[in-house]
Amino acid sequence: MADLNSVKQFLRDYDGPEMNIMEVCGSHTASIAKNGIPSMLSKRIHLLSGPGCPVCVTPSSYIDRLIELSLTPGMCVVTFGDLIRVPGSAGNLAEARGRGGRVKMIYSPMDVLPMAEEDRKTVFVFAAVGFETTTPVYALLMKEITEKGIDNIRLLTALKTMPPVVNFLCESGAKIDAFLAPGHVCVVSGYRGYEPIAENYSVPFGVSGFSGPELLITLCALVRDRGRGVVRNYYPLVATRDGNPGALKLIDQYFEEAPAYWRGIGMIPGSGRVLRDQYRIYDAGSRDLTEDRKANPACRCDQVLTGKLRPYECPLFGKVCTPMTPQGACMVSQEGSCFSYLANHRRD
Ligand code: SF4
Repeated sequence: MADLNSVKQFLRDYDGPEMNIMEVCGSHTASIAKNGIPSMLSKRIHLLSGPGCPVCVTPSSYIDRLIELSLTPGMCVVTFGDLIRVPGSAGNLAEARGRGGRVKMIYSPMDVLPMAEEDRKTVFVFAAVGFETTTPVYALLMKEITEKGIDNIRLLTALKTMPPVVNFLCESGAKIDAFLAPGHVCVVSGYRGYEPIAENYSVPFGVSGFSGPELLITLCALVRDRGRGVVRNYYPLVATRDGNPGALKLIDQYFEEAPAYWRGIGMIPGSGRVLRDQYRIYDAGSRDLTEDRKANPACRCDQVLTGKLRPYECPLFGKVCTPMTPQGACMVSQEGSCFSYLANHRRD
């Protein structure tokens, strides 16, 4: 492996063709900003944020459904904190709580189990949002629910998988020359799924860790691999080609592939997971979610998530839209591109 100083020098002095490299994963976006990586790159290397923050790609119809459930007598929505401020088509869960909606915040999906066991008269709806990384935990939750015979928990799922959306970006002609493949996702599901995309579109993928040096080494390799349809693993201690078979088997036991709606992008076939038919009684309407309407029509999350616009190019960025007053989902989570750019004063 090249030494770090020569990697830095290569990236700083690069004067070849302009390169757009997409960091697909929200954790990569956050780490790139925190490590000041854009300032270490030649002006000919451009980093673009992608659709890899789960909260950011959750469609407004999902939030609308959670709001409706929170206001339904006898029901209580249980969620991670991030989701509470994500805008639906008209308002968010925090506002619904102000109108009497029942919304509880938790830190682990398993926290819903004692809640449900203590209050049998309430139906608890867990907001299961995420990519391949969090889906095994939701499968474990389902295992506990079914084995313990708990009948007052439902899941509203917005579970997504990465390769179909990356394929969608390539298919739609996005100007992306290389991808930083999501390291955490590859730990669970492997990187085999990116191989046909790399080959079809002649774009390199680099599976990367999250530290500054790991990111720099992967970026350097991607620049050198420009135009080659290859997938290389620079996170070999934990990521493998086939992923974690135990986690994949557990996911497969409870969930099946389905179409999914992505905020600002629309429906992508086969890019989601929903509870299998035999577990439908635990579902709170996940298969019925469709449309995606912006709360603020001026929000540009759709372009930010597809790498067409940098967050600071949105006219609302840092003015009308801040972490305290988010107008779009990308300004809510720490993994959201707009939040990350604003919090770290990132200008590429
Ligand atoms: Fe949407 Fe705010 Fe980002 Fe603009 S800055 S794209 S309004 S989240």
